[in-house]
Amino acid sequence: MIYSFESDGSEFDDFIGILSDQSLDYEVIKRDKIVVRIFGCVNDDLRQRLDRASGRSSRITLKKTGEESISISNFTTGEKLFIAGPCSVESEEQLETTARFLSGLGIKYLRGGAFKPRTNSNSFQGLGRTGLKIISSVAKKYNMKVVTEVMDRSQLDDVAHYADIIQVGSRNMFNYSLLTALGAVAGPVLLKRGMAATIDEWVHASDYIRKGGNEQIILCERGIRTFEPRTRFTLDILAVTIARKLSGLPVIVDVSHAAGQRDLVPPLIRASLAAGADGIMVEVHPDPEKALSDGSQSMTFDGFESVFNQIKEIKFGVPTNRDA
Ligand code: PEP
Ligand code: MN
Repeated sequence: MIYSFESDGSEFDDFIGILSDQSLDYEVIKRDKIVVRIFGCVNDDLRQRLDRASGRSSRITLKKTGEESISISNFTTGEKLFIAGPCSVESEEQLETTARFLSGLGIKYLRGGAFKPRTNSNSFQGLGRTGLKIISSVAKKYNMKVVTEVMDRSQLDDVAHYADIIQVGSRNMFNYSLLTALGAVAGPVLLKRGMAATIDEWVHASDYIRKGGNEQIILCERGIRTFEPRTRFTLDILAVTIARKLSGLPVIVDVSHAAGQRDLVPPLIRASLAAGADGIMVEVHPDPEKALSDGSQSMTFDGFESVFNQIKEIKFGVPTNRDA
């Protein structure tokens, strides 16, 4: 079970007092907020006492599929989120060229992985903290926001320092320890769907972040593994509608990882927007053939500009937290 507190104080002390009287192990994660993760069995009586002491119910957020209560205003203010940039931060020059191009089109969110989850351990692993510094300084220069991935709790201090939106990759959707820690972060988290996760598993995963006290969550459909070998993954377009209904959270689509090849990206952008996605993530590279990761699915500047021109009447912007 997970509980959250805005800060320490008497409410938190009382809560810990109750826990300390029990023979239960627990972990306290202090960042912008405080998350308490309880191990062991919590009976109904204790759960009610903890709910009362924390002033929060350990409710289950998952709704029934038929339920209509969509409240995407939890995070967005109506503008759609458009995130673009290379798969990996490779160099200052690569990112600078990309950011100049994208910001020229009015795109506000720059992606680029500094810590890369690579299938082959011999592949480029990202530039690490050097990459974070590059994306942060380039984004600042072009008045853009940083979207970058955290793979592990050990990287959270660094990534949270530089990222405006912290990305949790497909391979980490089931990393409950990382998700719990993200509850204690003040900024938004982009939670990608596990490539072999059901929609319910994905929404339940978001609850780890939410119960930890961070309600700024954006879900990201990025394709799932099916029997179809012609594409890298199969984009589950209905997951956009279903996950939003179940969670009340905004759902965007990463079109690049589903497609796996750049010529398939434009139809997926159009399809995702037609299906009501709250935003798009797309990989763009100044020289995709030379990219250190995901080159074959990365769009060239020319290719990207022509598809972006088809959709530019849509208002893409900087969604702000309703409560901010
Ligand atoms: C990425 O965004 O580059 C990435 C690794 O995506 P995913 O986690 O969806 O595979
Ligand atoms: Mn990638």
